[in-house]
Amino acid sequence: MARILVVEDEPAMRSGLCDNLEFEGYAVDSADRGDDGLKKLEMEDFDLVLLDVMLPGLSGFDVLKQLRRMGNNTPVILLTAKGEEMDKVRGLELGADDYITKPFSLRELLARVKANLRRSAAQVTDRNEGGGVDIGRLLVNFDALEATDHGVHVKLSHKEFEILHYLYKKKNQIVTRDDLLDKVWGSDYQPASRTIDNFILRLRQKIDTVETNHIVTVHGMGYKLVL
Ligand code: CA
Repeated sequence: MARILVVEDEPAMRSGLCDNLEFEGYAVDSADRGDDGLKKLEMEDFDLVLLDVMLPGLSGFDVLKQLRRMGNNTPVILLTAKGEEMDKVRGLELGADDYITKPFSLRELLARVKANLRRSAAQVTDRNEGGGVDIGRLLVNFDALEATDHGVHVKLSHKEFEILHYLYKKKNQIVTRDDLLDKVWGSDYQPASRTIDNFILRLRQKIDTVETNHIVTVHGMGYKLVL
């Protein structure tokens, strides 16, 4: 089930969008301020964002700008008001995937939502078929045990690949330390838990940029690869 975030300050518009998207079978969350919307996008994984431009807290443009700066490529459809032609251009330049002009028909909106979800799913498939997956700065090919950062080879040890692969298979879910120990080291060798921390630290240095943190420590439990 695709997850959609609706960021819209006008109550009637927001609840109308949420109700109709839920009715279509999407899991929907919403925010009525730009800064709250951005917070949700930082904490959780969505498949699509419907983002109003004129918002309290942080404008839709600023939300979009910061989202892309964090390396978050969740598809964004901007909701622009009639006659704001400049906004559309600016929005697309900032990395919006699409826009829809208010007032819009429900049918048009749902068609756009579906098309954008389909497009982004196809892009993910393309990348996977090309043998690489995007994890932070890295393009990782688990079959060939190769990783590159914008075309430059990055050396990962075999264990680092194994850990990253396991986290990737369980992406956006908590992976416990015991789980990692068992899957990566097996039952006959049990390294100290400090060893896992060191591997995670090294992986973070290779994956993350200054602004992003893709391997999140879930205190007292383990780790989560957030993509
Ligand atoms: Ca608004």
